[in-house]
Amino acid sequence: MPDLVLATRNKGKIAEVQRLISLHAPQITLRSVSEFNLDDVEETGTTFEENALLKAETIARQTGLTALADDSGIAIDALDGAPGVYSARWSGVHGDDAANVAKVLLELSDVPDEDRGAQFVCVIALAHPDGRSIIVRGEVEGVVRRDPIGNHGFGYDPIFQPDGYAITTAQMDPETKDAISHRGKALREIASKIGPFIGA
Ligand code: IMP
Repeated sequence: MPDLVLATRNKGKIAEVQRLISLHAPQITLRSVSEFNLDDVEETGTTFEENALLKAETIARQTGLTALADDSGIAIDALDGAPGVYSARWSGVHGDDAANVAKVLLELSDVPDEDRGAQFVCVIALAHPDGRSIIVRGEVEGVVRRDPIGNHGFGYDPIFQPDGYAITTAQMDPETKDAISHRGKALREIASKIGPFIGA
């Protein structure tokens, strides 16, 4: 059974990746980077692509196994694409979802409904210890609501309402979110490529 190391410690993301990979590439054994005694890879890139590749290549080199890394976030039109690669640490505290959401809502408080467009973006990189890599990108368009609503998901889900829906991604059950999400799109695209890439 080929092993694939997931370069994330975020439990919400691990659950999403597990659901999708087990559907599309059930022969692959998923392992978390937490099983290995490694330092976190610093996300020094200025694009989602740079960060995803940096993480995947570093972990593939350190573990000797194929690694899958994602970099994702929300790009808000009225903020010229911010928070972008800084989504997880927008408030200054890494991973403080409530503070990140509060900061964005404050920044958008004067922005009218018609200018509240945003995209969730997910870039996934797959890196082999032999130096090969591939990258895919998934996006979902939507708007930023004025008040958080919903208990599912993580991050900016309570304020992100995808186009064509009257609910946020935090009000969707996980399967519905997977079907339309940036991460779902990118994972479905990469899932079919993992087997041939690993040589399984
Ligand atoms: P990363 O771990 O550097 O990729 O940062 C991702 C950050 O972007 C998360 O901490 C969230 O704040 C945000 N984000 C990415 N994907 C989602 C999603 O599916 N829902 C809500 N927020 C997301």
